[in-house]
Amino acid sequence: MPHSERFDVYVNANQDKFLKEFGEFIAVPSVAAQKRGIKEMADLLTKRFRKLGAVVRQYPLPDGGSPVVYAEIGSGPRTLMIYNHYDVQPEDPLALWTTDPFTLTRQDGKLFGRGVSDDKGELLSRIQAVEAWLATRGDLPLKIKWVIEGEEEIGSVHLEDWVREQADMLGADGILWEGGGYDEAGRITMAAGCKGIAYFELRVQGPAVDMHSANAPIVTNPAWRLVQALSTLKNTQDEITIDGFNAHVRPLTPLEIQRIEALPFEAEQFKHNYGLARFLNDLDDRAALRRLYEIPTATICGLTSGYQGNGTKTVLPAVASAKLDFRLVPDLTPDLVEDLLRRHLDARGFTDVQITRLSGEKPARSPIESPLRTAAIEASLDTWNQTPVLYPWFAGSGPMYPLSVMLNIPVISAGATWHPDTRAHSPNENILERDYFTSLRFTASLIEHFSQV
Ligand SMILES: [Zn+2]
Repeated sequence: MPHSERFDVYVNANQDKFLKEFGEFIAVPSVAAQKRGIKEMADLLTKRFRKLGAVVRQYPLPDGGSPVVYAEIGSGPRTLMIYNHYDVQPEDPLALWTTDPFTLTRQDGKLFGRGVSDDKGELLSRIQAVEAWLATRGDLPLKIKWVIEGEEEIGSVHLEDWVREQADMLGADGILWEGGGYDEAGRITMAAGCKGIAYFELRVQGPAVDMHSANAPIVTNPAWRLVQALSTLKNTQDEITIDGFNAHVRPLTPLEIQRIEALPFEAEQFKHNYGLARFLNDLDDRAALRRLYEIPTATICGLTSGYQGNGTKTVLPAVASAKLDFRLVPDLTPDLVEDLLRRHLDARGFTDVQITRLSGEKPARSPIESPLRTAAIEASLDTWNQTPVLYPWFAGSGPMYPLSVMLNIPVISAGATWHPDTRAHSPNENILERDYFTSLRFTASLIEHFSQV
């Protein structure tokens, strides 16, 4: 029997065992935001790596942060780093779940539970792929360095410092990231980076308490102050007008433009799904696609002040606040955006607008061409008989920057268990049982191809 066939036989024979183990991972409520189940999950994972035969260590982080679990196994000329995280989002609102979030539940070919897609399914199926390899094919043809963090869902607050301290240990030829999966049309998707993010709260304090609105001629209204300040951040063409902001946007290379223009985009379907008559500024579909990946954003995510209930209440509010997020492209960073925003507002007399940064992640743009990308395409052909759609980077954000940009290692999100209705972060998070095992096979195929290209 050829070894790839022996691998399949082993995986099929061990399906129940693998899923039972998946259930043990889901059962630990490792919610980083609430510091629940973190140590227990890190210990379970450490034990699992030891059982695999890996050298594993937990790295404690300052301020009671979730430890990084780091494991190494195998040897060879190539080194593959694998990034996943063992923390999950809080399960609430609990009432909207149809199953218990911390009991892995099989139903209609699907697996339900908090973390099945984000990110315990990928995490464990990749470990089991290596187990099946060792059991049927002998030694690994390359070295694997596993970085599993426990703070991804709270913004990876300590990851950059940890990577800086451990840089000598973390050299690799490519990083297999979380995410990927397939889209509504069944196309396998991969990406070599992501946008960054900076999230702020803007707040203006007016009088100590809400006042009768008859006082408006003599009392400053914080709601007016806030909307006037916000209106200076963008013009009516939707261009960001923060002083100096656009000078930090790195122009796309011809290859990047070519890659973006080659992406599929079901514009009519997209507009239909969200009830949009047209895109912003009447952009045509191709221009909209390019803009989605090319430019940074400044979005008012929420705006609050005064009275919003039924009928009327003549009040001059005490406070006004807004939540703002910026999706960042190179070379914008959260520090830079905070600084530019402060100076821009101060220069216009809005020193009364307080800025609080709530989270931030730097953008990650990885080389589009790399041996890892070539191997991922080969593995996709093996696994799904499909050439994947290669996003140069996702329009969303994640903690790729420290490992891929700081250490200069090409990264790819590929082989995920995600399907279009996976409901990550939401009630009834689910994956297809079939996809769990397909993803496992993809990992083995990637190891094989990456050791050869
Ligand atoms: Zn995740």
